[in-house]
Amino acid sequence: MTALLEGRTAIVTGAAQGIGLAIATTLVGHGARVTIADLDGAKAEAAAAAIGPAARGVACDVTSEESVAALVAGAVAEYGGLDVIVNNAGITRDASLKKMTLENFRAVITVHLQGTWLGIRAASEVMREAKRGSIINISSMSGKSGNPGQTNYSAAKAGIVGMTKAAAKELAHHGVRVNAIQPGLIRTPMTEAMTPEAYAATEATIPMRRAGEPEEIANVVAFLASDLSSYMTGAVLEVSGGRGM
Ligand code: NAD
Repeated sequence: MTALLEGRTAIVTGAAQGIGLAIATTLVGHGARVTIADLDGAKAEAAAAAIGPAARGVACDVTSEESVAALVAGAVAEYGGLDVIVNNAGITRDASLKKMTLENFRAVITVHLQGTWLGIRAASEVMREAKRGSIINISSMSGKSGNPGQTNYSAAKAGIVGMTKAAAKELAHHGVRVNAIQPGLIRTPMTEAMTPEAYAATEATIPMRRAGEPEEIANVVAFLASDLSSYMTGAVLEVSGGRGM
């Protein structure tokens, strides 16, 4: 039996660590060749070297139009095409409305919304020509339910849902599918920055009574990246252990 993603090529942004790294590792495990893109280029290269020859690491700032254009052009030049992009890069700048600065707000909106939009636009140009492709955007349950201290992040992650559906409607007849995933609480460096009290309080609200592992998001990405999900577009999949259903 051939591997699920044999012959496919993918880009994963923000993939030097956490969920993105698990996604890149899983896609390679299913037979894809993957470009690991991250703000931290050295870390992206080290991650790719650890995965093996089917991965390459590059520096990319998803907020920069030039950087994202170079990322997509480089992946196409290296692998001869682009079948999958996972817009995963993200940051948090949590604060109450009382304490959040405009800079905190803008930074989060820019990385998530502008970054995802630039990724969708650049990748879809290549995919539209090829008449096939799968774009996967990483939203969050915060975008569905809203989290106190995350007015910036919740807005950005809800925005990714609207962007996913609009792009899905534009690109469906070109053979390009666009879907989103809303992870719940996942154990990564991002959530390790939470206080133990906040982490425990969040875990207690999860029906499955545990945080998820990055691989549990990566497996759903592999499904959306592959032909197993060939009739799905504009879908938003909650991967949250039941939290926020
Ligand atoms: P993380 O902080 O562990 O990793 C994020 C990566 O993105 C880092 O390697 C970072 O260098 C990179 N990055 C940040 N800004 C960038 C930029 N401008 N250009 C390129 N790369 C950039 O985070 P994570 O927990 O692995 O989260 C990955 C994604 O999943 C994010 O979009 C996050 O919002 C989302 N998410 C995470 C959780 C969770 O519980 N961890 C839950 C829901 C959604």
